[in-house]
Amino acid sequence: MKSWPTTSIPKVAKAIKPLTIYSTEQQGLVEFPIKSRYQMYVCGITPYDATHLGHAATYLTFDLIHRFWLAQGASVNFIQNITDIDDPLLERANRDGVDWKDLAHSQIDLFRSDMEMLRILPPTHYEGAVDAIPDVVEAIATLDEKGAVYDIDADKYFAVHSDENFGGESHLSHDEMMTIFAERGGDPKRNGKRDPLDALLWLAHRDGDPYWPSRYGNGRPGWHIECAAIALKFAEPSQDYVIDIQGGGKDLIFPHHEMSASQVKVLTGKKFAKAYVHAALIGLDGEKMSKSKGNLVFVSKLIETGVQPMAIRWALLKRPYCKEYMWQRNETTVAQQELDALAAKLSRSQIPPTESLIAQIYNLLADDLKSDQAIAEINSWVASQGSGGNAQALRDVIDALLGVVLPA
Ligand code: ZN
Repeated sequence: MKSWPTTSIPKVAKAIKPLTIYSTEQQGLVEFPIKSRYQMYVCGITPYDATHLGHAATYLTFDLIHRFWLAQGASVNFIQNITDIDDPLLERANRDGVDWKDLAHSQIDLFRSDMEMLRILPPTHYEGAVDAIPDVVEAIATLDEKGAVYDIDADKYFAVHSDENFGGESHLSHDEMMTIFAERGGDPKRNGKRDPLDALLWLAHRDGDPYWPSRYGNGRPGWHIECAAIALKFAEPSQDYVIDIQGGGKDLIFPHHEMSASQVKVLTGKKFAKAYVHAALIGLDGEKMSKSKGNLVFVSKLIETGVQPMAIRWALLKRPYCKEYMWQRNETTVAQQELDALAAKLSRSQIPPTESLIAQIYNLLADDLKSDQAIAEINSWVASQGSGGNAQALRDVIDALLGVVLPA
């Protein structure tokens, strides 16, 4: 699928520290020794409520990783899917009385344009679930050969315990898994399941649903196998694992990333990802921002009201990516004031020394993406006095590493 246009990145001094980042699986920091190529898979949206601030914060988090690796001089094989067929999309289309394909297309267009406005670098491979159906069917066949698949009626299920490490990514108790599985689209109570947590791989055609022909009859793919199959289609696996980072919002820790990890393990015999990185969710007015609460703040709506995309990006960078966060309504105003003050400072003929600030920006990002602290350092530099700084060098680092382009 077409992604979105990339933005140019100024050449900056090489990042010489390896990136360390918190991984849900290891429950601690994981270091990525410097190498020439990295692989990252970030779960994409289901196109029906693009692009709210939670989405933006998630893709921004992985954009920081992408940009940091590029600053090391590496290339990044960045893979992202788009779940352009699944229950939530069909439910929304039915609710609103629109064709599911029209809804998906319009939301994908909106997502692309929001990502471009926010200067999120595009994926190397951007793949829709519909386009990947042949790959999903092949992956199911391979799982079947390995004895990990069984039928309930004409539907296909993945037996989670065919992976002996099932549960190792999320570290949840069985009871917690059962609760979350039911809340997030799972079907623990379905008759005929060997384990209530077994995951749907292929849903046979139901009346009124879209379907595609396959060797398993007409139907459509499950969500978790979609990401497993798309990752395997485009990744260049190393000896020990398929990709370096599997990423997404914290709401994907279970069941989605656990299931995909198990499926990839059974498919390849390798670990799916070296690290599982999760961006925290964003709330509004003391509540989690969610479609069910109807309190989503959309990027495109903020931009429509005159908010500069860079002010949104700056405001999101000011929070630690891994901590739940309440969005404040005046946040982009404050962010714009800070950006204006920074731009004004940089346009002066003499500015305070920039060398140590630039080094701090690199170091803070290398240390679990502390963009919040990097911005605090930038703001205190703006308030400082002195001379001898290099405005262009600082401007370029803020652009290349933080993705923020300042007014000239
Ligand atoms: Zn996914």
